[in-house]
Amino acid sequence: MNEVKKPKKPLIYYYCIVAVCLLFFNALAMPWLLEYRTRTVDYNTFISMTDEKNIDQVSISSQDNTITFTDKEGNIYKTAMVEDQELTQRLYKAGASFSGKEIRQTSPLLSFLLTWVLPVLIFVGIGQYMSKKMMEKAGGKNSMMFGMGKSNAKVYVKSSKGIKFDDVAGEDEAKENLAEIVEYLHDPKRYKEIGASMPKGILLVGPPGTGKTMLAKAVAGEAEVPFFSMSGSEFVEMFVGMGASKVRDLFKQAKEKAPCIVFIDEIDAIGKKRDGQIGGNDEREQTLNQLLTEMDGFEENNGVIILAATNRPESLDPALLRPGRFDRRVPVELPDLKGREAILKVHAKKIKVADNVDYNKIARMASGASGAELANIVNEGALRAVREHRAFVTQSDLEESIEVVIAGYQKKNAILTDKEKLIVSYHEVGHALVAARQTNSAPVQKITIVPRTSGALGYTMQVDEGNHYLMSKEEMENKIATYTGGRAAEEIVFGSVTTGASNDIEQATKLARAMITRYGMCSDFDMVALEVQTNQYLGGDASLACSAETQKIIDEKVVELVRRQHEKAAQILLENREKLDEISQYLYQRETITGEEFMKILNS
Ligand code: ADP
Repeated sequence: MNEVKKPKKPLIYYYCIVAVCLLFFNALAMPWLLEYRTRTVDYNTFISMTDEKNIDQVSISSQDNTITFTDKEGNIYKTAMVEDQELTQRLYKAGASFSGKEIRQTSPLLSFLLTWVLPVLIFVGIGQYMSKKMMEKAGGKNSMMFGMGKSNAKVYVKSSKGIKFDDVAGEDEAKENLAEIVEYLHDPKRYKEIGASMPKGILLVGPPGTGKTMLAKAVAGEAEVPFFSMSGSEFVEMFVGMGASKVRDLFKQAKEKAPCIVFIDEIDAIGKKRDGQIGGNDEREQTLNQLLTEMDGFEENNGVIILAATNRPESLDPALLRPGRFDRRVPVELPDLKGREAILKVHAKKIKVADNVDYNKIARMASGASGAELANIVNEGALRAVREHRAFVTQSDLEESIEVVIAGYQKKNAILTDKEKLIVSYHEVGHALVAARQTNSAPVQKITIVPRTSGALGYTMQVDEGNHYLMSKEEMENKIATYTGGRAAEEIVFGSVTTGASNDIEQATKLARAMITRYGMCSDFDMVALEVQTNQYLGGDASLACSAETQKIIDEKVVELVRRQHEKAAQILLENREKLDEISQYLYQRETITGEEFMKILNS
């Protein structure tokens, strides 16, 4: 869709400028211009012109002792007055006319052009130039002088290049939900006839980068209606009341352009719960109040649909969420395997890709990635292909770019000592072996000991075969055992431990704690929630909701759980000691091995 320029300034603005300019011009500039056009001559010239009868009008000013006169062609002259008894006689003979009026202009057309048209043109030009400069300086954002209280919403109008539902891959449920809105905007009469009213507001909720903005644009693109886009933070101004006035302006513009879509991104910036504290954030609250009022204010079925996006729905004010305002909530979740594959394909269409790329495998490797991350992975792959002077993107480019997104770039000049390299080999093979020797573990895809910019000295990549929605207690325990496998291998082989396991420790602890506090997987606590999750879509922080005594018991249980799995991992490695040595030596020499190579040695 094309962004269109914001509405022009009202005409009265230009009229004011012109009026001021004219005043200025007539008062100051005009006399100066006349002065400039007047030739000063000596008295002799005046007399000889009189004798030649080349005088038309004469004006005598005794106040400043000057005679102003014109010749037959209309040129203006000025001369100093001297004592001359015969002056009147002489002028009379010459046929001059004494009008008594001040001599100003000869050509009425020229006079009109000079006094009215020229100044208008000059000052309108200056005004235009200056307002353009100011707008540019403001950069479309809110500036302090211009556009105060104006919404400054970006307006997009329909165009053939607009985003359509087909461009948004996966997210079928969300699309289905929004398709109704498109239908309504196409044919509101059908809805009115039966008395059904469309929701005024629709809230898109989900983690960042899942395509909420894209979906909103796609609704406008499909419905072919104007699309106003504004971010919640753009309403918040330094001055109290400005945000509210921006809301008013936005809705005014939207109503003029109805049917249309208004999209407010990151609505939590203005829609946060009002906490009732005196002296709170007045500006934000006023803006929110105005938004609530505006949403109540417009009658149903007037063709303005408000879409808003947020990744913190729990922080929104309940008044905003009640029916009649944002009464429909459309979840836009992280894509599943099928969705990821579709998103990869949509983005791969924009670049040149080899025919044999296995999108399903890449989608499986990128489990948990959002749409934006997948778009990034495809682009990283394309960049890598260019770097390596290839004409198109291959499977390995895409696989490598997933690793770049997960672990960062390869550190080319990080030099590990031989001992360190050996420890890292054993550590990684420890993970892989424990994973492979347990049931219900995802197969090992790749093991590498090439250091990465994220600080990882190596890693083992496991890739699930399909979608995984549920995890059993055993699977979670196995996962903890796999995390502890690296450290267990170091202990068995080298008899000492290193700092390399810090990330494993963190992950194992997080999982073990969640099992006990959130998933009810510890019989002592039965089905009691000991932790509540906040910010579901933004990392999912959890806060404990239990007594101090219980917290102590939870800590003990976590330690016990991890220890049991650690012992189990060590046991598995001891039983497979020969394989551990063999694969670690192999990895030490190759630095990167595939899952197949690993399984081949393991099963030989
Ligand atoms: P959000 O508003 O949810 O944070 P955006 O809509 O801004 O996310 O998405 C960011 C980018 O991610 C988009 O420009 C697009 O390239 C990509 N993207 C996200 N979801 C999808 C999807 N479902 N299909 C295709 N591309 C997507």
